[in-house]
Amino acid sequence: MGRNELLAQLHEAAASPKRQLERYLAEGRKAVAVAPAYTPQEIVHSMGLVPMGVWGADMEISEAKKYYPAFICSIMQTILELGIRGEYKGVSAIIIPSLCDSLKTLGQNWKYAVKDIPFIPMTYPQNRKPDYGVKFTMAGYERVIRDLEAATGARFSKAALKESNRIYNEHNAVMRAFAEIAAEADITAAQRSDVFKSAWFMLPEEHTAVVRELNEELKRGPRAKGDRKVLVTGILADSPNLLRAFDENGIRIAADDVAHESRQYRTDVPNLDDPLEALARKFSAMDNCSLLYDRDKKRIDYIVEQARQHGAKGVIVLMTKFCDPEEFDYVPIKRACDAAGLISLNVEVDRQMVNYEQANTMLQALKEML
Ligand code: SF4
Repeated sequence: MGRNELLAQLHEAAASPKRQLERYLAEGRKAVAVAPAYTPQEIVHSMGLVPMGVWGADMEISEAKKYYPAFICSIMQTILELGIRGEYKGVSAIIIPSLCDSLKTLGQNWKYAVKDIPFIPMTYPQNRKPDYGVKFTMAGYERVIRDLEAATGARFSKAALKESNRIYNEHNAVMRAFAEIAAEADITAAQRSDVFKSAWFMLPEEHTAVVRELNEELKRGPRAKGDRKVLVTGILADSPNLLRAFDENGIRIAADDVAHESRQYRTDVPNLDDPLEALARKFSAMDNCSLLYDRDKKRIDYIVEQARQHGAKGVIVLMTKFCDPEEFDYVPIKRACDAAGLISLNVEVDRQMVNYEQANTMLQALKEML
Protein backbone atom coordinates (compact mmCIF):
# COMPACT_ATOMS: atom_id res chain seq x y z
CA MET A 1 0.00 0.00 0.00
CA GLY A 2 1.16 3.54 -0.71
CA ARG A 3 1.41 6.43 1.72
CA ASN A 4 -2.02 7.86 0.89
CA GLU A 5 -3.80 4.51 1.22
CA LEU A 6 -2.14 3.88 4.59
CA LEU A 7 -3.08 7.35 5.84
CA ALA A 8 -6.65 6.87 4.55
CA GLN A 9 -6.91 3.57 6.43
CA LEU A 10 -5.77 5.19 9.67
CA HIS A 11 -8.08 8.16 9.10
CA GLU A 12 -11.04 5.85 8.72
CA ALA A 13 -10.27 4.05 11.99
CA ALA A 14 -9.71 7.36 13.79
CA ALA A 15 -12.94 8.86 12.47
CA SER A 16 -15.22 5.87 13.05
CA PRO A 17 -14.49 4.09 16.33
CA LYS A 18 -18.03 2.70 16.36
CA ARG A 19 -17.43 0.94 13.04
CA GLN A 20 -14.19 -0.50 14.42
CA LEU A 21 -16.02 -1.78 17.50
CA GLU A 22 -18.73 -3.36 15.34
CA ARG A 23 -16.10 -5.01 13.18
CA TYR A 24 -14.38 -6.64 16.17
CA LEU A 25 -17.72 -7.72 17.64
CA ALA A 26 -18.74 -9.20 14.28
CA GLU A 27 -15.50 -11.22 14.33
CA GLY A 28 -16.75 -12.76 17.58
CA ARG A 29 -14.38 -10.78 19.81
CA LYS A 30 -15.33 -9.10 23.08
CA ALA A 31 -14.27 -5.49 23.63
CA VAL A 32 -13.51 -3.51 26.77
CA ALA A 33 -13.56 0.30 26.95
CA VAL A 34 -10.36 1.79 28.36
CA ALA A 35 -10.57 5.32 29.75
CA PRO A 36 -7.62 7.74 30.02
CA ALA A 37 -4.89 7.85 30.82
CA TYR A 38 -2.86 4.72 31.63
CA THR A 39 -5.29 1.82 31.67
CA PRO A 40 -3.36 -1.49 31.55
CA GLN A 41 -4.33 -2.38 28.00
CA GLU A 42 -1.77 -5.18 28.00
CA ILE A 43 -3.92 -7.10 30.50
CA VAL A 44 -7.10 -6.63 28.44
CA HIS A 45 -5.30 -7.71 25.27
CA SER A 46 -3.71 -10.75 26.93
CA MET A 47 -7.17 -12.07 27.83
CA GLY A 48 -8.18 -12.09 24.16
CA LEU A 49 -10.29 -8.93 24.57
CA VAL A 50 -10.08 -5.83 22.37
CA PRO A 51 -9.18 -2.65 24.28
CA MET A 52 -11.12 0.31 22.83
CA GLY A 53 -10.02 3.79 23.88
CA VAL A 54 -12.64 6.22 25.16
CA TRP A 55 -11.63 9.88 25.26
CA GLY A 56 -15.07 11.45 24.69
CA ALA A 57 -16.02 13.28 21.52
CA ASP A 58 -16.61 16.79 20.18
CA MET A 59 -20.32 17.10 20.93
CA GLU A 60 -23.06 18.88 22.84
CA ILE A 61 -23.65 17.64 26.37
CA SER A 62 -27.18 17.17 27.71
CA GLU A 63 -27.65 13.93 29.72
CA ALA A 64 -24.30 14.08 31.53
CA LYS A 65 -25.29 17.47 32.96
CA LYS A 66 -27.54 15.58 35.39
CA TYR A 67 -24.39 14.08 36.92
CA TYR A 68 -21.74 16.74 36.49
CA PRO A 69 -21.44 20.45 37.20
CA ALA A 70 -20.46 22.55 34.17
CA PHE A 71 -16.94 23.17 35.51
CA ILE A 72 -15.45 19.72 35.00
CA CYS A 73 -13.40 18.69 31.99
CA SER A 74 -15.40 17.89 28.88
CA ILE A 75 -13.49 14.65 28.24
CA MET A 76 -15.15 13.16 31.33
CA GLN A 77 -18.50 14.71 30.55
CA THR A 78 -18.62 13.45 26.99
CA ILE A 79 -17.48 9.92 27.94
CA LEU A 80 -20.47 9.77 30.29
CA GLU A 81 -22.74 11.39 27.71
CA LEU A 82 -21.78 8.78 25.09
CA GLY A 83 -22.28 6.01 27.65
CA ILE A 84 -25.77 7.25 28.54
CA ARG A 85 -26.70 7.61 24.86
CA GLY A 86 -25.74 3.98 24.23
CA GLU A 87 -22.79 4.75 21.92
CA TYR A 88 -20.61 2.15 23.66
CA LYS A 89 -23.20 -0.59 23.37
CA GLY A 90 -21.46 -3.90 22.80
CA VAL A 91 -18.46 -3.38 25.10
CA SER A 92 -18.35 -5.83 28.00
CA ALA A 93 -16.98 -3.42 30.62
CA ILE A 94 -15.22 -0.08 31.09
CA ILE A 95 -11.97 0.32 33.02
CA ILE A 96 -11.46 3.77 34.52
CA PRO A 97 -8.20 4.60 36.30
CA SER A 98 -8.03 6.96 39.26
CA LEU A 99 -5.31 9.32 38.15
CA CYS A 100 -7.13 12.64 38.59
CA ASP A 101 -10.08 13.83 40.66
CA SER A 102 -12.36 14.02 37.61
CA LEU A 103 -11.57 10.43 36.68
CA LYS A 104 -12.43 9.34 40.22
CA THR A 105 -15.90 10.85 39.86
CA LEU A 106 -16.41 9.33 36.41
CA GLY A 107 -16.42 5.79 37.75
CA GLN A 108 -18.88 6.64 40.51
CA ASN A 109 -21.26 8.41 38.12
CA TRP A 110 -20.91 5.64 35.55
CA LYS A 111 -22.27 3.05 38.01
CA TYR A 112 -25.57 4.92 38.23
CA ALA A 113 -25.83 6.41 34.76
CA VAL A 114 -24.80 3.45 32.57
CA LYS A 115 -26.03 0.36 34.33
CA ASP A 116 -25.59 -2.10 31.44
CA ILE A 117 -21.78 -1.65 31.14
CA PRO A 118 -19.92 -2.73 34.31
CA PHE A 119 -17.39 -0.27 35.71
CA ILE A 120 -13.99 -1.68 36.66
CA PRO A 121 -11.83 0.66 38.75
CA MET A 122 -8.05 0.76 38.41
CA THR A 123 -6.68 2.41 41.52
CA TYR A 124 -3.11 3.62 41.11
CA PRO A 125 -0.89 4.69 44.00
CA GLN A 126 0.25 8.29 44.34
CA ASN A 127 3.80 7.10 45.12
CA ARG A 128 4.39 4.71 42.25
CA LYS A 129 8.20 4.36 42.46
CA PRO A 130 9.01 2.66 45.82
CA ASP A 131 8.50 -1.11 46.10
CA TYR A 132 5.33 -0.60 48.15
CA GLY A 133 3.97 1.53 45.26
CA VAL A 134 4.75 -1.26 42.77
CA LYS A 135 2.97 -3.78 45.05
CA PHE A 136 -0.03 -1.47 45.27
CA THR A 137 -0.17 -1.18 41.46
CA MET A 138 0.05 -4.97 41.15
CA ALA A 139 -2.85 -5.36 43.58
CA GLY A 140 -4.84 -2.93 41.41
CA TYR A 141 -4.06 -4.99 38.31
CA GLU A 142 -5.11 -8.20 40.09
CA ARG A 143 -8.45 -6.59 40.91
CA VAL A 144 -8.86 -5.56 37.24
CA ILE A 145 -8.14 -9.15 36.17
CA ARG A 146 -10.72 -10.57 38.57
CA ASP A 147 -13.34 -8.06 37.43
CA LEU A 148 -12.56 -8.68 33.76
CA GLU A 149 -12.91 -12.43 34.26
CA ALA A 150 -16.30 -11.88 35.91
CA ALA A 151 -17.54 -9.42 33.27
CA THR A 152 -16.36 -11.26 30.17
CA GLY A 153 -15.79 -14.91 31.10
CA ALA A 154 -12.27 -14.61 29.64
CA ARG A 155 -9.35 -16.15 31.54
CA PHE A 156 -6.04 -14.58 32.50
CA SER A 157 -2.66 -16.27 32.12
CA LYS A 158 0.81 -14.94 32.78
CA ALA A 159 2.16 -16.56 29.62
CA ALA A 160 -0.37 -14.62 27.52
CA LEU A 161 0.46 -11.40 29.37
CA LYS A 162 4.16 -11.85 28.61
CA GLU A 163 3.33 -11.99 24.92
CA SER A 164 0.98 -8.98 25.12
CA ASN A 165 3.69 -6.98 26.92
CA ARG A 166 5.99 -7.76 23.99
CA ILE A 167 3.36 -6.72 21.43
CA TYR A 168 2.75 -3.42 23.22
CA ASN A 169 6.48 -2.70 23.48
CA GLU A 170 6.75 -3.28 19.74
CA HIS A 171 3.87 -0.86 19.17
CA ASN A 172 5.57 1.71 21.43
CA ALA A 173 8.76 1.52 19.36
CA VAL A 174 6.88 1.96 16.06
CA MET A 175 4.95 4.94 17.44
CA ARG A 176 8.10 6.60 18.79
CA ALA A 177 9.69 6.12 15.38
CA PHE A 178 6.62 7.61 13.71
CA ALA A 179 6.77 10.74 15.90
CA GLU A 180 10.41 11.29 14.85
CA ILE A 181 9.80 10.60 11.17
CA ALA A 182 6.66 12.77 11.09
CA ALA A 183 8.69 15.69 12.46
CA GLU A 184 10.64 15.81 9.19
CA ALA A 185 8.14 14.38 6.69
CA ASP A 186 5.61 16.17 4.54
CA ILE A 187 2.56 15.30 6.63
CA THR A 188 -0.23 17.53 7.91
CA ALA A 189 -1.13 18.03 11.57
CA ALA A 190 -4.46 16.32 10.84
CA GLN A 191 -2.74 13.26 9.32
CA ARG A 192 -0.31 13.10 12.24
CA SER A 193 -3.25 13.17 14.63
CA ASP A 194 -5.02 10.35 12.74
CA VAL A 195 -2.03 8.07 13.28
CA PHE A 196 -2.14 8.59 17.04
CA LYS A 197 -5.93 8.58 17.33
CA SER A 198 -6.45 5.40 15.31
CA ALA A 199 -4.21 3.52 17.76
CA TRP A 200 -7.02 3.72 20.31
CA PHE A 201 -9.44 1.82 18.08
CA MET A 202 -7.24 -0.86 16.55
CA LEU A 203 -5.55 -3.93 17.98
CA PRO A 204 -1.89 -3.02 18.61
CA GLU A 205 -0.54 -5.72 16.28
CA GLU A 206 -2.74 -4.42 13.43
CA HIS A 207 -1.81 -0.79 14.13
CA THR A 208 1.91 -1.65 14.36
CA ALA A 209 1.81 -3.29 10.92
CA VAL A 210 0.16 -0.26 9.25
CA VAL A 211 2.31 2.38 10.98
CA ARG A 212 5.52 0.44 10.29
CA GLU A 213 4.70 0.47 6.58
CA LEU A 214 3.73 4.15 6.77
CA ASN A 215 7.05 4.99 8.45
CA GLU A 216 8.93 3.46 5.51
CA GLU A 217 6.79 5.37 3.00
CA LEU A 218 7.29 8.66 4.86
CA LYS A 219 11.06 8.13 5.02
CA ARG A 220 11.12 7.69 1.25
CA GLY A 221 8.70 10.56 0.60
CA PRO A 222 9.17 14.34 0.39
CA ARG A 223 10.53 16.37 3.31
CA ALA A 224 8.42 18.92 5.18
CA LYS A 225 8.65 22.49 3.96
CA GLY A 226 9.28 25.48 6.23
CA ASP A 227 10.87 25.67 9.63
CA ARG A 228 8.06 27.01 11.79
CA LYS A 229 8.40 24.15 14.23
CA VAL A 230 6.68 23.83 17.59
CA LEU A 231 6.24 21.33 20.39
CA VAL A 232 2.64 20.82 21.50
CA THR A 233 1.78 19.77 25.01
CA GLY A 234 -1.51 18.94 26.73
CA ILE A 235 -4.04 16.16 27.15
CA LEU A 236 -5.66 16.07 23.74
CA ALA A 237 -4.94 17.55 20.29
CA ASP A 238 -7.49 16.01 17.97
CA SER A 239 -9.98 18.76 17.11
CA PRO A 240 -10.17 18.98 13.29
CA ASN A 241 -10.64 22.77 13.35
CA LEU A 242 -7.66 23.27 15.61
CA LEU A 243 -5.47 21.02 13.47
CA ARG A 244 -6.59 22.89 10.36
CA ALA A 245 -5.36 26.12 11.99
CA PHE A 246 -1.89 24.54 12.38
CA ASP A 247 -1.86 23.48 8.73
CA GLU A 248 -3.24 26.74 7.35
CA ASN A 249 -0.59 28.72 9.21
CA GLY A 250 2.24 26.43 8.16
CA ILE A 251 3.05 25.54 11.78
CA ARG A 252 4.64 22.10 12.05
CA ILE A 253 4.43 19.82 15.05
CA ALA A 254 8.02 18.73 15.58
CA ALA A 255 7.29 16.86 18.82
CA ASP A 256 4.47 16.38 21.26
CA ASP A 257 3.96 15.91 24.96
CA VAL A 258 0.28 15.07 24.59
CA ALA A 259 -1.35 12.49 26.88
CA HIS A 260 -3.49 11.07 24.04
CA GLU A 261 -0.38 10.81 21.82
CA SER A 262 3.32 10.37 22.64
CA ARG A 263 3.02 10.14 26.43
CA GLN A 264 1.48 6.70 25.88
CA TYR A 265 4.54 5.31 24.14
CA ARG A 266 7.55 6.57 26.09
CA THR A 267 7.94 3.72 28.55
CA ASP A 268 8.27 0.02 27.76
CA VAL A 269 7.43 -2.96 29.95
CA PRO A 270 10.74 -4.31 31.30
CA ASN A 271 11.60 -7.94 30.69
CA LEU A 272 11.12 -9.64 34.08
CA ASP A 273 10.17 -13.19 35.01
CA ASP A 274 6.78 -12.09 36.34
CA PRO A 275 4.96 -10.18 33.55
CA LEU A 276 2.45 -8.65 35.99
CA GLU A 277 5.23 -7.22 38.13
CA ALA A 278 6.90 -6.05 34.90
CA LEU A 279 3.74 -4.16 33.96
CA ALA A 280 3.58 -2.55 37.39
CA ARG A 281 7.26 -1.59 37.07
CA LYS A 282 6.49 0.03 33.72
CA PHE A 283 3.96 2.26 35.50
CA SER A 284 6.46 3.03 38.25
CA ALA A 285 9.07 4.03 35.64
CA MET A 286 6.74 6.45 33.85
CA ASP A 287 7.40 10.17 34.24
CA ASN A 288 6.93 13.61 32.72
CA CYS A 289 3.15 13.66 32.80
CA SER A 290 0.79 15.99 34.67
CA LEU A 291 -1.23 12.98 35.86
CA LEU A 292 1.76 11.27 37.47
CA TYR A 293 2.75 12.67 40.85
CA ASP A 294 6.16 14.35 40.77
CA ARG A 295 6.98 16.97 43.34
CA ASP A 296 10.06 18.03 41.32
CA LYS A 297 7.99 18.67 38.17
CA LYS A 298 10.64 17.13 35.89
CA ARG A 299 8.10 17.38 33.07
CA ILE A 300 8.90 21.08 32.74
CA ASP A 301 12.58 20.49 31.90
CA TYR A 302 11.57 17.57 29.70
CA ILE A 303 9.37 19.84 27.55
CA VAL A 304 12.13 22.43 27.11
CA GLU A 305 14.68 19.71 26.34
CA GLN A 306 12.41 18.01 23.78
CA ALA A 307 11.65 21.36 22.12
CA ARG A 308 15.40 22.03 21.81
CA GLN A 309 16.22 18.56 20.53
CA HIS A 310 13.57 18.85 17.80
CA GLY A 311 14.51 22.36 16.71
CA ALA A 312 11.16 23.79 17.88
CA LYS A 313 11.10 27.53 18.37
CA GLY A 314 7.87 27.54 20.32
CA VAL A 315 5.78 25.52 22.77
CA ILE A 316 2.02 25.44 22.36
CA VAL A 317 0.16 24.48 25.51
CA LEU A 318 -3.22 23.03 24.54
CA MET A 319 -5.02 23.60 27.80
CA THR A 320 -8.04 21.37 28.30
CA LYS A 321 -10.62 23.55 30.02
CA PHE A 322 -11.06 22.70 33.73
CA CYS A 323 -8.16 20.22 33.75
CA ASP A 324 -6.56 20.82 37.16
CA PRO A 325 -3.42 18.68 36.65
CA GLU A 326 -2.53 20.60 33.47
CA GLU A 327 -3.39 23.99 34.94
CA PHE A 328 -1.01 23.39 37.87
CA ASP A 329 1.86 22.87 35.42
CA TYR A 330 1.16 25.85 33.19
CA VAL A 331 2.97 28.62 35.11
CA PRO A 332 6.24 26.67 35.47
CA ILE A 333 6.07 25.69 31.78
CA LYS A 334 5.67 29.33 30.77
CA ARG A 335 8.52 30.45 33.05
CA ALA A 336 10.83 27.71 31.75
CA CYS A 337 10.04 28.61 28.12
CA ASP A 338 10.70 32.30 28.79
CA ALA A 339 14.03 31.42 30.39
CA ALA A 340 14.99 29.16 27.47
CA GLY A 341 14.05 31.71 24.81
CA LEU A 342 11.14 29.64 23.52
CA ILE A 343 7.93 31.36 22.49
CA SER A 344 4.97 29.90 24.38
CA LEU A 345 1.29 30.05 23.67
CA ASN A 346 -1.67 28.92 25.78
CA VAL A 347 -4.58 27.74 23.63
CA GLU A 348 -7.72 26.60 25.43
CA VAL A 349 -9.28 23.42 24.07
CA ASP A 350 -12.63 21.89 24.91
CA ARG A 351 -14.72 19.03 23.56
CA GLN A 352 -17.66 21.40 23.17
CA MET A 353 -15.74 23.99 21.19
CA VAL A 354 -16.25 24.01 17.41
CA ASN A 355 -15.07 27.49 16.69
CA TYR A 356 -11.30 27.77 16.87
CA GLU A 357 -11.13 31.26 15.37
CA GLN A 358 -9.48 32.66 18.48
CA ALA A 359 -6.88 29.89 18.36
CA ASN A 360 -6.41 30.54 14.65
CA THR A 361 -5.74 34.23 15.34
CA MET A 362 -3.19 33.27 18.00
CA LEU A 363 -1.49 30.85 15.61
CA GLN A 364 -1.41 33.52 12.90
CA ALA A 365 0.40 35.82 15.31
CA LEU A 366 2.74 32.99 16.29
CA LYS A 367 3.50 32.31 12.62
CA GLU A 368 4.86 35.85 12.29
CA MET A 369 7.01 35.43 15.38
CA LEU A 370 8.52 32.07 14.45
S1 SF4 B 1 -6.38 14.82 33.56
FE1 SF4 B 1 -7.52 16.62 32.98
S2 SF4 B 1 -8.43 16.18 31.01
FE2 SF4 B 1 -7.80 14.22 31.92
S3 SF4 B 1 -9.60 13.50 32.99
FE3 SF4 B 1 -8.40 14.62 34.48
S4 SF4 B 1 -9.23 16.72 34.41
FE4 SF4 B 1 -9.94 15.65 32.58
